[in-house]
Amino acid sequence: MRKPKEKSAAAPALLPGRRDGSNAKLRPRAARQPATAYSAADIEEIFHRFSIQRPEPKGELEHVNAFTLLVAVVLSAQATDAGVNKATRALFAAADTPEKMAALGEEKVGDYIRTIGLWRNKAKNVIALSNALITDFGGKVPGEREALMSLPGVGRKTANVVLNMAFGQPTMAVDTHIFRIGNRIGLAPGRTPDEVEATLVRIIPEKYMRHAHHWLILHGRYVCKARKPDCPACVIADICKSAEKTTDIPAPLAPLEPLEATRQIIV
Ligand code: SF4
Repeated sequence: MRKPKEKSAAAPALLPGRRDGSNAKLRPRAARQPATAYSAADIEEIFHRFSIQRPEPKGELEHVNAFTLLVAVVLSAQATDAGVNKATRALFAAADTPEKMAALGEEKVGDYIRTIGLWRNKAKNVIALSNALITDFGGKVPGEREALMSLPGVGRKTANVVLNMAFGQPTMAVDTHIFRIGNRIGLAPGRTPDEVEATLVRIIPEKYMRHAHHWLILHGRYVCKARKPDCPACVIADICKSAEKTTDIPAPLAPLEPLEATRQIIV
């Protein structure tokens, strides 16, 4: 015989705001992480091809140690590598440590870098960051992002370049080229450089992270150009999902001449 159904206790009235009726505070929805348009296999193939094209890409900003790299990157904002190198050759010959730079003083540093845009402000920052390195970091360039970004004139992009080039960390300094490629081909869509950076760091296999920054910059500078992408010259044209691409046939894959591979990189 079937057991008579037990009378269930009356359900409590639902409180407004939550489906379960709890009156816990409503939390704002977490922002959706922008997704890449590519599978892991596609991404592996893209960076594998870049690594064949340019096995050892290098930045062109001249430097002799982590400190001079940091100064060169600070000076390179809104300036060309060639222009920065012209000025820093003599500057670094006179001062290649924070102590020597601080001893030079703002006026002398200004004399060396007068040909670089925004030189007054940059000279001020170079002296201030040299003093901060001496006072807070024992005269050494720190290998942590937060510490680097505490230095005058050092933003996230500069910190990423220094962490990547001087400390071999898998960082991604998103410049105008990388930002454009991330969005144009759907590799890392994002409204801000930080969003593009977060996706790229998440999706690029670790083994490619040391050079990924330079590969993407060079690809954006010479092939996937701002005004009109040169798709027939592109080694990933068959994988690319951009609505702007003009061919599905990839360019032949071969190592580029060293000069062609490294010219004019702006880190
Ligand atoms: S196929 Fe064209 S749009 Fe796509 S990555 Fe290459 S150059 Fe850029």
